[in-house]
Amino acid sequence: MKELKFDTLVIGGGSAGMAAALEVISRGFSVAVVERENAMGGILNQCIHNGFGLHHFKEELSGPAYAEKFIEMVDSSDIDVFINMTIMDIEEIVDYKAVYGMSGITGMVKFLVKTVVFANGCRERNRGSIGTPGTRPSGVFTAGLAQRLVNIEGYIPGKECVIVGSGDIGLIMARRMSWVGAKVKAVIEIQPYPAGLTRNIVQCLNDFDIPLYLSHVVGEIHGKDRVESIDVIPLKNGVEQKEKSFNIKCDSLLLAVGLVPDNELAKKIGISINPETNGPIVDRQLMTAKDGIFACGNVLHVHDLVDFVTEESARCGRYAADYLDKKTPSNQFRTVPGQNIKYLVPNYYSPYEDNKFYLRTMIVKNRAELIISVNKKEILRKKLKHIQPSEMISFSLPKGDVESISELSDNTLEAKIV
Ligand SMILES: Cc1cc2nc3c(=O)[nH]c(=O)nc-3n(C[C@H](O)[C@H](O)[C@H](O)COP(=O)(O)OP(=O)(O)OC[C@H]3O[C@@H](n4cnc5c(N)ncnc54)[C@H](O)[C@@H]3O)c2cc1C
Repeated sequence: MKELKFDTLVIGGGSAGMAAALEVISRGFSVAVVERENAMGGILNQCIHNGFGLHHFKEELSGPAYAEKFIEMVDSSDIDVFINMTIMDIEEIVDYKAVYGMSGITGMVKFLVKTVVFANGCRERNRGSIGTPGTRPSGVFTAGLAQRLVNIEGYIPGKECVIVGSGDIGLIMARRMSWVGAKVKAVIEIQPYPAGLTRNIVQCLNDFDIPLYLSHVVGEIHGKDRVESIDVIPLKNGVEQKEKSFNIKCDSLLLAVGLVPDNELAKKIGISINPETNGPIVDRQLMTAKDGIFACGNVLHVHDLVDFVTEESARCGRYAADYLDKKTPSNQFRTVPGQNIKYLVPNYYSPYEDNKFYLRTMIVKNRAELIISVNKKEILRKKLKHIQPSEMISFSLPKGDVESISELSDNTLEAKIV
């Protein structure tokens, strides 16, 4: 088996992996990026709509255009890129890690590295995840797969479709299917409010006269070889109103019902997972419970915007380089999600360093307030115009903002929303 030595190995060549790798190489360490597809860019390659890069590049780009800017930077750096290769396993051996990559071209390659960055993205929840009853005909796709079929492979997954889920991915696919000539008969949403941006409701549904059924679920899928129709059931206070259910004829059902960090490999090597994010538990340096193994991007927690993936992953690359530089991290304390917070990342912070946090709420509210406390003492209060579970919230805590820390007290940081 071929053996190769690098300081850092990055798993995944999407926006997270590229941003992390560029930071590591800029500090003079050797980096390999391993990508299982035949090109870098990750999910961005199939997102041909606009809406990327407003924060990072201050311009509105398509997904491939955003990816291209990073691919060019990687190509003109000394980063070694291995495409068409999948990372299969990681072994921890005293002061280095053996990472096994499998490629149809080169066979198995063993990478001997000091640090690993997990940047391998997320996967889509599917029919099994939402437990939809009925027959098992063809014509049921996850929205991301349908997007790939249309935008990359050149296939139209159906002529008359229904979309489940009104998050931005579901909305963007409603417009995309309309543009390729399919009739989008409805978007079904379990929540009483749309999950996606108002801009996308207007541009992707209203402009195409696509009905949005809020507080509705798919009851049953009908059809033997191919989807023929679906039953839709209204909900009242979360309870199914079966007597009011109706049927929609369609040949395809696109499921945009959420994304989950792809953590099979992390779990396999014993990395502790946060049950709220489904991503690894990480410290302030985005290092997992395994020494020298970091995580960033959608494998850490699912992001709405690529710009935030880039910001977080560039920091992750800097932290991995600090580790290689043998910088001693400052003392860290726990962070915990309080009232109305679903999760808070990272799981530790340091009052002696700059800190950046991402969180999601569980509620929909106008004029909310984010309150941060340490030792039960309020240290930060931020007004939020509108909050909802599908929109990620961020805040920073610069070093020195937490005064009078006593190493003897419980310096846990709590975030809550009121
Ligand atoms: C359908 C969709 C629409 C979106 N629309 C927008 C938008 O309009 N605006 C916006 O800002 N953001 C949008 N986003 C969000 C944003 O694009 C993503 O959050 C971001 O690009 C994710 O980057 P990532 O690198 O973490 O993951 P990915 O892009 O998924 O990259 C992960 C990479 O890891 C590779 N990989 C996985 N496992 C292995 C392995 N074992 N070995 C080797 N390689 C592996 C994968 O092939 C993939 O290339 C959208 C996301 C989706 C899914």
